[in-house]
Amino acid sequence: MARTFFVGGNFKLNGNKQSIKEIVERMNEAPLAKDVEVVLCPPAPYLDYATSLVTKSQVSIGAQNAYFKAAGAFTGENSVEQIKDCGAKWVILGHSERRTLFGEDDKLIAEKTKFALDQGLGVILCIGETLEEKKAGSTLKVVETQLDAAIEQIKDWTNVVVAYEPVWAIGTGLAATPEDAQDIHAHIREYLAKKVSAEVAEQTRILYGGSANGSNAVTFKDKKDVDGFLVGGASLKPEFVDICNSRN
Ligand code: PGA
Repeated sequence: MARTFFVGGNFKLNGNKQSIKEIVERMNEAPLAKDVEVVLCPPAPYLDYATSLVTKSQVSIGAQNAYFKAAGAFTGENSVEQIKDCGAKWVILGHSERRTLFGEDDKLIAEKTKFALDQGLGVILCIGETLEEKKAGSTLKVVETQLDAAIEQIKDWTNVVVAYEPVWAIGTGLAATPEDAQDIHAHIREYLAKKVSAEVAEQTRILYGGSANGSNAVTFKDKKDVDGFLVGGASLKPEFVDICNSRN
């Protein structure tokens, strides 16, 4: 079965009602390719608002983070139930900014992933190496270690999308080459086949993230293991539509 092309828009800590309305309306009106699934991830205060604006069935809303407890004395956190209550269907977990700026480690990310999946939220699980790790030649080892923690916790991979996001490519304007991304994606898929199952490896979508934009997205088109993108900066701009349509 072909994997449905998937494009996530990670707004990060950007936007307000006005700009989020503009982005969602642009997606509502855009001539989107039929076989693309789009997930817009605004900051948590706007999840409910963004959901209320979406009119296209292939567009849904996701959160950028979620906690691994259902409720209680956890000031400042957002629960999976609350995210779902706001109409969101997905959550980004393990983003490099959560790892580096907020000290999230593989174990915590795996725990959050398990909790979100158990509660019925789809998870965009981010992995990727830093520049130092790349220079040291340890890219594959790093992504394997990051995956290992998640593999231990995930029982059902149906609602998991993996995003390979090399940290050195995020927000730098310096995307990985399609060839390099393909090599690493193929490796991730082989690793899933070895550690989980051939079926999960075949069905799981592996996105590329890191300075993807309206011009370079199309250069990944013939890379068979690149099943879409996780987009930061460009997801706030009209060119996001071109990324969503870059497969066609
Ligand atoms: P970028 O961010 O597209 O701005 O590089 C990607 C991400 O952080 O998911």
